[in-house]
Amino acid sequence: MTTIRRNWTKRIEQTRAAAKFCRAYDSSTGHMITVDPARAFEAWNATPRATLSEDTPGQKWRVHVHSNRFYVLTAADPQRPGPRPARQLGRVGSSPARRLRPGPLSGLPGVAEHEETPYARSFLTAAERQLNAPSTTLLRIAATAKQAAARADDSNDDLRVVVFRDIEERCRYLVDAAVVEPVLGRRGWSGRDRAANHTLQQWAAKWGLNEPADGAALPPHAEREPAVPAEQRRQAVVRTAARARCAAGIRCTERNCLTYGAVKVTFLAGAWLCPDCIRAMNTRLTAAGYAPDTVQPAPGGTPERGRYMVRLYNATGKGSRSVETTSPQRAQFIAETERPYNNTDYEIWLPAEPRS
Ligand SMILES: [Zn+2]
Repeated sequence: MTTIRRNWTKRIEQTRAAAKFCRAYDSSTGHMITVDPARAFEAWNATPRATLSEDTPGQKWRVHVHSNRFYVLTAADPQRPGPRPARQLGRVGSSPARRLRPGPLSGLPGVAEHEETPYARSFLTAAERQLNAPSTTLLRIAATAKQAAARADDSNDDLRVVVFRDIEERCRYLVDAAVVEPVLGRRGWSGRDRAANHTLQQWAAKWGLNEPADGAALPPHAEREPAVPAEQRRQAVVRTAARARCAAGIRCTERNCLTYGAVKVTFLAGAWLCPDCIRAMNTRLTAAGYAPDTVQPAPGGTPERGRYMVRLYNATGKGSRSVETTSPQRAQFIAETERPYNNTDYEIWLPAEPRS
């Protein structure tokens, strides 16, 4: 590209003679419109800071007034279709038209010539990279794995619950690790993270989790089930045992009692007791001067179907969370299996307010 100086009178005359066609950028519509070439030279003459440049020798020139006002002059009619000499294109390696990939947008009149096009293109490229970023795929897999784990839980398939939850957790870890914030010392994925991403995506694909979670795509059948690591098989066995244990209901809250199927009682708030512990409790209370049989199963206190809350908290009492569920069996199962607080403490209670 050559800038034609205002004192190059002969060159200017040649250009005026050669530039038979002109299109001007119309800022109101964003399109290039056909105008008389003389208008471009008038604008150039009238604006001292405007530039006249030759994009392609003897073929294409440009009058730049500012980014919303410019003219493209050509020797050939740009509206007329026809093959353009390859040599002509070869010279404009840095022009916006060359950098645009063919597509519906770049085909619109004025787009290729517009000097903002490379910038717009760079935003598109950035957006495209984001959409294709590994973290997007991982988040999609995580969402599918979460739904698949919930479905597996509903059908008591503990192996799949363990596998799918693990996949979800690892996806979220890798998404988090992908963040680049040099100020905070976050440098994105290490080589190990990259390898983990590759392995994880392959593992998820084996379980059919790369498909969107629409409920229709079910994980593969048992006969095609991938080989699950021993540790996850062990976790599934533990989970299945807890499920079987909790089938009897809520565990008695007396410290050393292992009985399941306890009921909510009168007098002792928050307690769930088995028949033996109710008897033992009344004996103690009577000895302490209370009326006989002070503690009784609360009428309707342990519904088979109802709104149960499980509050899970850690040993220091900080960071509790509550999970709502619908049966005593399920409440006890959650209390014994939900991480990360299941090794510390929990309480099960029924909220007084009915569900709105
Ligand atoms: Zn008990």
